[in-house]
Parts: sequence; structure tokens; C-alpha cells
Amino acid sequence: MITTIRKDNAYDVAMENFDTAADAMQLDHNTREMIKYPERMLTVTVPVRMDDGSIRRFEGYRVQHSSCRGPAKGGIRFHPQVTLDEVKALATWMTWKCAVVNIPFGGAKGGITCDPKHMSQGELERMTRRYTSAILPLIGPEQDIPAPDVYTNSQTMAWIMDTYSMTKGYSIPGVVTGKPISLGGSLGRNEATGRGVFYTIQCACEHLNIPLKGATVAVQGFGNAGSVTAQLLYEAGAKIIAVSDSTGCVFNRDGLDIPELINMKAMCGHVDGFPDSEPIHPQDLIALNCDILVPAALENMVHADNARSVRARIIAEAANGPLTPEADRILESKGAFVIPDILCNAGGVTVSYFEWVQDEQHLFWEAQDVYNRLERVMKSAFRDVLKIHLDKKVPMRIAANILGIGRVAEAVQIRGIYP
Ligand code: GLU
Repeated sequence: MITTIRKDNAYDVAMENFDTAADAMQLDHNTREMIKYPERMLTVTVPVRMDDGSIRRFEGYRVQHSSCRGPAKGGIRFHPQVTLDEVKALATWMTWKCAVVNIPFGGAKGGITCDPKHMSQGELERMTRRYTSAILPLIGPEQDIPAPDVYTNSQTMAWIMDTYSMTKGYSIPGVVTGKPISLGGSLGRNEATGRGVFYTIQCACEHLNIPLKGATVAVQGFGNAGSVTAQLLYEAGAKIIAVSDSTGCVFNRDGLDIPELINMKAMCGHVDGFPDSEPIHPQDLIALNCDILVPAALENMVHADNARSVRARIIAEAANGPLTPEADRILESKGAFVIPDILCNAGGVTVSYFEWVQDEQHLFWEAQDVYNRLERVMKSAFRDVLKIHLDKKVPMRIAANILGIGRVAEAVQIRGIYP
């Protein structure tokens, strides 16, 4: 649903969210100076030979926000709206996210400003490989580990892994996560973000006494996170009444047939025109009368101008940064329960951590083992955040930030400053 993108700067949002939590936990000035800002930012020019023989220049970024608790970790995004500020915001959120689920990683993010929907596989491969070569000094299994994000996938990771390995002279699968299984990927990584979102929704429903069976759900964005979340909620007996993607929005008050919708999206590339549904305007999705709203698209989708229209009781942030701080305040005053992104969508990076551990050990786990461990991590993180929310009487986002920022602050304080 790219039509409603707002101009709110994601990095300003990330900084404001940091300050709010740091104030609430009375974090001292020195620690703030050490943990708030990105450690490293690299901007690269990526020239690519296009299929018609011409050369096109793309701009790419890799930002390492923190490496205090372990290697920097985070995805790579291919999207026309990628900017350095967006990548800085996403890298910052990765740091707190990894700390919330207590995995030994810092935070990073990368991106290329491009329109992958209008590029061939060959062009994408050449762009990915040249970008990898440009950021090569920064990445590595002990340094900084990329993964998929918006419009990148396991094939993208395979190209990165191959480019990195060819340069080093031997295969190094641990340099990326979200790889194909045949290259050392983990079972369950592809569905991990949606599965994690599902576990946190289960916890929220339990906390609020909302039966998941029969609960009504609207899902904004039908990429990897949105579609897997919808599928698992559907299997649990929830009614998915609306789904949108960048092409349109489909609605059925009695519930959409999600497996069929996933099939159609895989075949035709869009949800628009799905049988047994009526089209509605994508912007109307967030105002639907439903129990659970799942923003699974991009940043700033719920903002000052439309937050008042939200009627859902639970907002599960499958996307990163879908609510602006102003939207947070409006939803808080309406009594909505927000499962914040750095908790809600942390299942992806959690299974990335499992993948990295398996690669390091050359020992691979069963799918059920991955699911069980993921469920334990997500549900225990939810309990930790909920406890802070209830004890300190702060919104869930601030509670999650207090937990994440607190863990990073503790690590920085024990390490001390070099030199
Ligand atoms: N891109 C995902 C995120 O935003 C996953 C990152 C990772 O697995 O490193 O959390």
C-alpha cells in the first residue's frame, strides 16, 4: 500500500522513541552518548550494466548501529524509497530488537535505492554482487551479517554469500542468514517473522482475554511477514477480513480464504481481483472494524491523520516502524494494545541467530526444534515486555525499548570506553 507513504523521517522517529524510553528509565547522559547513534555508516555507488547495455548507477548503504553485544545484524532492503536516514533508523531498531529477544547480536541494516519490480533477475544479480563487493570490508560472520528484508530473499542472500566467499577463497555460509537450505540456511527461517508475529498475537489475546478463534483481522501488506502471519492466524481459526498489497485491497466480512489468496499472489503477483471478495480502497483497511490490525508493509503507515480511525483492539507491528509517535499517542489514548515492532517482528532475526549458530557448528536442526525454540524466545520476550508495561505503567513500545536499551546500556557500561 505504497500510496499512503508519509514524509515522516524514520530516523527522527527512531531518535524520538529512544529519548522517550531513555527518559522513562532515567538513563544517564554518558550512556546515551555511547549507545544512541550509529557506529558506522557506509554509502556506496553501485554501477550496473543493464540488459540493454547501458550503465546505471544506484546508491547503496550499510549502517552498523551497534556491535556492543555481538556482530552487527540486520537485513538488506531493495526499494525506491530507501534513504540513508531510513537505513539508519532500521539499523537502530535492529539493535534494540536483538536485545529485546536477548540474542548476542548488535544492529545493522543495508539498502539500495532501486525498483526491483522493474529489474530483471540478471540486473538484480549484478547489482547485488557489486553492492556486496562495495560493502565487503564491513561484513563477515563475526562482524556484520546481512539477511533478507523488503524485496530481498534467499536468492539475494545466495548471491551475497557467493560473492563474499569467492573473494575470500572458500565458502563462508555464516556471512548471511536467510540463505537457501542447500547453502546452510535454517529450516523455518523463511516463515520465522510471521510465525513470531503469530506467537506475540497469541500472547496479547491471552492477556486481553480475546479468543483468537473467531477474532477478526486486517492485514496491511502481503509480503513474507504479512502472508505467513495471515496463514497462521487463519489456521488458528481467526477470520482474516481484509488483506492489502501495493496493488490493492480485498475484503470479505466472513473471512478470506488465505491459502487460496497466497496461491493467487504467488501465481499473479497481486491480491487484487481475488474471487469471493470485494475491492476496497487500501487506505480504508486500517479503519475497518476488527479485533486485530497487522501493519506488515512499510514505515509511517499509521500517522497523525489516520490513527483516530483505527478501531482494532490489538495492533501487531509485523513491519518496522509502521506507527509514528503521534499515532502511538492517539492509539494509547484510545486504549489500543500495540505489540511494538522490536518485539512483534523479532522472530525473523531470532531464527537468523539460530541459522548462524547452526552454520558455526556445521550441525543442523529439525524444523520442529526451530519452531519450539522460537516460540520459547518470543513468548518469554513478550512476558518480559508485558511485565515492564504493567509494573511501570508505560505503553508497550516504551516497555520494549526500556528492555532493549537497558540491555545494551548494561553491556556498554561493563565494557567501558576505549581507549
Ligand atoms: N529484516 C528482518 C528484520 O527487520 C530480519 C533481519 C535479520 O534476520 O537479520 O528484523
